[in-house]
Amino acid sequence: MSDKANIGVTGLAVMGRNLARNLARNGQRVAVHNRHRERTDELITRFGDEGKFLATGSLRELVDTLERPRRLVIMVKAGTPTDAVIDELVPMLDSGDVLVDAGNANFTDTRRREAALIDRGVHFVGAGVSGGEEGALHGPSIMPGGSTDAYRELEPILRSIAANVDGTPCVTHVGADGAGHFVKMVHNGIEYADMQLIAETYDLLRKVLGREPAEIAETFRRFNTGRLNSYLIEITAEVLGHVDSRTSRPFVDVVLDQAEQKGTGRWTVQNALELASPVTGIAEAVFARSISGQPRLRADAAGLPGPSTEPVVDAPERFVADVERALYASKIIAYAQGFDQIQAGSETYEWNIDLGAIATIWRGGCIIRAEFLDRIRAAYDQTSGPAGLLADDDFREALGEAQDSWRRVVATATAAGVPVPGISTALAYYDTVRAQRLPAALIQGQRDYFGAHTYRRTDLAGVFHTEWSADRSEHED
Ligand code: NDP
Repeated sequence: MSDKANIGVTGLAVMGRNLARNLARNGQRVAVHNRHRERTDELITRFGDEGKFLATGSLRELVDTLERPRRLVIMVKAGTPTDAVIDELVPMLDSGDVLVDAGNANFTDTRRREAALIDRGVHFVGAGVSGGEEGALHGPSIMPGGSTDAYRELEPILRSIAANVDGTPCVTHVGADGAGHFVKMVHNGIEYADMQLIAETYDLLRKVLGREPAEIAETFRRFNTGRLNSYLIEITAEVLGHVDSRTSRPFVDVVLDQAEQKGTGRWTVQNALELASPVTGIAEAVFARSISGQPRLRADAAGLPGPSTEPVVDAPERFVADVERALYASKIIAYAQGFDQIQAGSETYEWNIDLGAIATIWRGGCIIRAEFLDRIRAAYDQTSGPAGLLADDDFREALGEAQDSWRRVVATATAAGVPVPGISTALAYYDTVRAQRLPAALIQGQRDYFGAHTYRRTDLAGVFHTEWSADRSEHED
């Protein structure tokens, strides 16, 4: 056996260290490097006996320690640090080497980096990795982009470290150049939407029914035994059931209610605007976090009047069942929107992404892992039309069954003054796409009135304009 490593990792903070350990535990010979040597030494001291590690003190040494073609994973802070590492590494690499950026890069950066390296013959692979530090160690969901040649070099290694569901590793070649980071970005956007919907559900049970966090934790535990079964519902029950040791109060009551964000949700919405892909659930989730993080606005607005009467719910258990249905229906919409964005990106950037394969690799390892993804995978086996998931019989049936509950929940929340931007935008989207006539006709009239922007008619071919400020005659443009 060669004394060289068959893969290298640079960047040994929590993600890189755990990914390197995962690789070593699965039989890879892993060369490791970090800008500051301490992290490398700590990895070897604490976990060196988990597998075959080769510690290196510089990028030059790291590159020289790898067998050819070299496979090298960058797991450093996203943005300029990634560019700095690439710039230093590239002169040391040869044609055929594979450079993987497994950090949370913006896919547009990945496209730029890949294009810059093509002429040198170096394969650049932007790989989305989801599952946080535990996922990196025990099996993440991996979304690699880049060329098929590069994927061939990486596939056996990636399959050995990915999460595994029913014998299927949670990794697939997503598509060329930035496709992997694009899909990871949308994954995170969907994660934002899902978390927001769950948080609204909690808020309703708390404020409308007056239930305590521990009771609501039990409700989520029950939800988790049904069709909502997922990692996010599971951890929600854990967080709600947790009691603060300093104050003996529910943990959720002592945490500052200002949600932070690192940017992938915002990127998802920015890109959705570019693609004209209406991810309203993700957008509301991003904005809900933004509002929560504006204490001065919230303090100023705190005295604004709310509803004049308190809501009365005569059948609390029926309301809980309504909330479960509203959550499930809203979740279908949020995921449908996210997958539609992936489809739109796939068409725009010519990636030919297999949506069913994406649902398959999200079933395990990542933050949105859930039984639900199995249903999405099955749906994409059956359908590929523009209505996406909403064309699937099972989802249509679930949305049909949820109708009255979903509307009662939005009505009750509105009457009670409890904000449910995620649940209500999902319902609004649903009602918009199913409406056979939209007030867009009026908007076209307004546009023509003030800007002579023209309109098309339902009964005649062609483009028309009305002389609004003259005799209001219509002529064909
Ligand atoms: P951080 O994002 O905190 O980055 C720290 C690492 O980056 C350290 O190894 C640090 O080296 C290195 N670094 C920073 N600047 C430079 C530079 N200019 N040159 C060389 N190295 C540099 O680490 P994480 O482990 O949290 O994340 C790594 C990547 O994985 C990021 O892109 C992140 O977005 C992504 N990610 C993180 C997840 C998470 O749950 N944390 C989940 C999924 C992806 P040094 O020790 O010398 O300072």
